[in-house]
Amino acid sequence: MMKEPKKIEYDALVIGAGIAGGETALNLANTGFKVLLVEKDHSLGGKMILLSKVFPTLDCSACITTPKVSEIARHKNITIFTESEVTNIIKKSANSFVAQIMKKPRYVRVEDCTACQLCEQACPVNVRDEYQYGLVGRKAAHIPHSIANPNAAVIDIENCTLCGACERVCPTKCIDFTMETEYYELHTKTVVLATGFTLFDPIEIPRYGYGKYKNVITSMQMEREIAPTRPYNTILRPGDGKVPDRIAYVLCAGSRDNTVGNPNCSQICCMYSIKQAQLLMGALPMADITIYYINIRSFGKGFEEFYQQAKSMGVEFVKGKIGDIKESDNGDLILRYEDINEGVVKETQHDMVVLSVGVKSNPTVSNIFDKGALKLDPLNFVAQDDLMGSPSKTNIKGVFVAGTAAGPMDIPDSILSAGSAASEAISYLIQYQEV
Ligand SMILES: Cc1cc2nc3c(=O)[nH]c(=O)nc-3n(C[C@H](O)[C@H](O)[C@H](O)COP(=O)(O)OP(=O)(O)OC[C@H]3O[C@@H](n4cnc5c(N)ncnc54)[C@H](O)[C@@H]3O)c2cc1C
Ligand code: SF4
Ligand code: SF4
Repeated sequence: MMKEPKKIEYDALVIGAGIAGGETALNLANTGFKVLLVEKDHSLGGKMILLSKVFPTLDCSACITTPKVSEIARHKNITIFTESEVTNIIKKSANSFVAQIMKKPRYVRVEDCTACQLCEQACPVNVRDEYQYGLVGRKAAHIPHSIANPNAAVIDIENCTLCGACERVCPTKCIDFTMETEYYELHTKTVVLATGFTLFDPIEIPRYGYGKYKNVITSMQMEREIAPTRPYNTILRPGDGKVPDRIAYVLCAGSRDNTVGNPNCSQICCMYSIKQAQLLMGALPMADITIYYINIRSFGKGFEEFYQQAKSMGVEFVKGKIGDIKESDNGDLILRYEDINEGVVKETQHDMVVLSVGVKSNPTVSNIFDKGALKLDPLNFVAQDDLMGSPSKTNIKGVFVAGTAAGPMDIPDSILSAGSAASEAISYLIQYQEV
């Protein structure tokens, strides 16, 4: 039976602790408001904490994210719930929302865990590591990733066999299998949705061979291969561990493509692919990198220079639409494509293919409110009710949107959007404080 929810009260609820939600929470908290930051995952930082370097500056992504995440975690005005979901929000009056929150058990008391990893070493269960996007495995008892915040173990109860090996080795006895789901009823005055984006699943385009050919990977997998917290110590192709020397990028995989229901440009794929190509040239100086594109959209500040820099480093750009990908006996991949400039169909061979997957909406956001209460756009991103005047406003007064929950955007734009959502939420709070 579901336990009676504990009643809690905060000025603002921020849902999603990626860079957009984190920045929104910080802005609100620095102004003196009490914030509850709810994250469904085990760590703060969203996708940004998992990236390698960032375009167009090539700054280290983890070096920017981790101090920010620590500031959020230590802020006296921010309370963090990880492993938590907001299951419903009802607006009671102008500045009064009631939210139901479900906090799942981690089976580890975070405050006592020293992240010694002894439980991880003792655990006999090996499953796919979601933070390394399936490139390697992890244990059922595990630290989410090496720069996770909170930096504490978690037990993946779905895969745990309850053998007790982790409990026996834990020096602080902080593993607790009696932990249960906790329920909360939150009373708050404003809500910010920062639930981010999901990645296009290339299984939906079978002719690219993803899931069938091991050496066809996604851009997020390559991002992990070149990140400081990478799964291997060098760049490897997953099929046989060979260091690749002819890498191909397929742009617009799942973007600008009506056949997969996404006519949108994902806005980030051209630039992150160009970034990865530059990083690969540094990591594998002898490798050939070819980018197959329809158009290069280098529209942002410093982007065109970044693109030209990649060309001058020797990255090859081919205006070509990939028809299909086949695997040869040695695991290499044969790409059939239309060379758009020459108007002919060609074939080339690469030993690894990276699909530059597009940005899709996060479907969980629509479940937070009663059916139909929150307006979504035709691609199921949160609709911006006053796009030209106040892009962080949604159709519900007092509910704001930040970052990629509203549509594809890069990190600087997500931070700008978070600033806008926070300032709208602050004015809303001030306006109703005086009533
Ligand atoms: C391969 C790749 C490379 C990239 N490289 C760059 C780059 O070099 N430079 C750049 O500027 N941008 C880059 N980006 C884009 C960048 O990742 C995004 O702009 C940024 O992460 C958006 O942040 P966000 O907070 O909006 O979303 P997210 O990072 O998706 O964060 C959303 C958070 O909300 C949580 N969440 C979701 N639903 C719920 C829910 N219902 N309840 C509670 N929590 C929830 C998620 O777990 C997550 O922590 C790259 C993206 C990819 C895919
Ligand atoms: S009890 Fe579960 S998490 Fe702990 S060691 Fe056994 S399988 Fe792993
Ligand atoms: S749960 Fe125990 S054994 Fe595992 S990392 Fe934490 S302190 Fe170490």
